[in-house]
Amino acid sequence: MLNLVLFGPPGAGKGTQSEKLIARYGFVHISTGDLFRWHTANNTELGLRVKEIMNSGELVPDSITIDMLNEELKKNPDAKGFLFDGFPRTVAQAEALDKFMAEKGTAIHKVVALDVSEQEIRDRIAKRKLTSNRADDEDDKLNKRINEYFTKTVHVLPFYEKQGRLQTVNGIGEIDVIYGNLCAAIDS
Ligand code: ADP
Repeated sequence: MLNLVLFGPPGAGKGTQSEKLIARYGFVHISTGDLFRWHTANNTELGLRVKEIMNSGELVPDSITIDMLNEELKKNPDAKGFLFDGFPRTVAQAEALDKFMAEKGTAIHKVVALDVSEQEIRDRIAKRKLTSNRADDEDDKLNKRINEYFTKTVHVLPFYEKQGRLQTVNGIGEIDVIYGNLCAAIDS
């Protein structure tokens, strides 16, 4: 079993690269952003609780996010491996994930971080905004999301680095070149 976290700021290309990695390695893809969007689109009880928070660009509280993730893990007892995308975003989430993996008798083997500058992120999301219809791609909310990343989520990197589980890949350039570098990091 190979379990991976794909890490990076909003707009780093996690969604694009996840699709390619899933096709190659057969991961079960768990994107907390996609899960939250599904809940809000379907007006579930959870969706109604998180809609405002998401639209503002803030992080959903850890307890809600961690419970949702645990439910998703339980739905996939036979997974050959998981690719986590957009999770963990806080150290508390990273600790919870380690605990869940340990309970399954496995672990997070690698964390691959896409390294993309803040300016590049802003340029990309400005472009995506034209077609995405995502309420959280609006300017003030985007600032909030980028701020949440640089104040809260970056602390996840030293957490994994200290344990020797972190590998950083340049996230700027051709999609296929980045993909190749990700595969090399995963296979190493
Ligand atoms: P991004 O474009 O930032 O990668 P995502 O699609 O991963 O966005 O997530 C969209 C929103 O969903 C976030 O801004 C946040 O409100 C919520 N969210 C997703 N994952 C998490 C998480 N692990 N912890 C807290 N909030 C989350």
